[in-house]
Amino acid sequence: MTTNEYRIGETRLVLVRGDITEQEVDAVVNAANSTLMGGGGVDGAIHRKGGPAILEECKEIRRTRYPDGLPTGEAVATTAGDLPARRVIHTVGPIWRGGANGEPELLASAYRSSLGVARDEGLRTVAFPSISTGAYGYPTDQAAEIALRTVKETIETNPGVFDEVRFVLFSEADYETYRGVAERLVR
Ligand code: ADP
Repeated sequence: MTTNEYRIGETRLVLVRGDITEQEVDAVVNAANSTLMGGGGVDGAIHRKGGPAILEECKEIRRTRYPDGLPTGEAVATTAGDLPARRVIHTVGPIWRGGANGEPELLASAYRSSLGVARDEGLRTVAFPSISTGAYGYPTDQAAEIALRTVKETIETNPGVFDEVRFVLFSEADYETYRGVAERLVR
């Protein structure tokens, strides 16, 4: 298996090439959309493998807390259904519109909010996909920079809270991009 491991204080930062739906962690993060009603990419894979219990809880969250949808940059947790993870944290990354429309801050917020939800629920191992770099079109090199910088800062400001934060990269190219950034930022 292709994997790289770094350390930030007591927390492991791990890059793996693989499928987010197969991760045996406390929480997997879903690159959802505001509707929380499912979609393609990571979202489709999580709902397909996790089963209908996830969508049921998403509907309930929409009804009770977010009737207009989950805002970009925010996060909520549900059951993980049949996935090997304990919880799914749904977050919404920004759609890339050229980069001058708040995309970097919104992407950072998606990572920060997700880790905030994990911390609040006592979830100590968290796996992220590469949020926004699929259908939402965020350039992977710029997204990796923000993802890794934000996760590093959040781990540093929350010492002892997380055992492991893992990035699960679906393609070899994405994996190499994240590894290149991590070598510079975390090493
Ligand atoms: P977004 O809408 O936020 O761009 P996507 O799901 O379209 O989200 O894509 C985000 C990234 O997740 C892309 O790099 C895509 O290749 C990757 N991806 C797709 N399926 C999976 C999966 N099962 N596990 C991990 N990553 C995946």
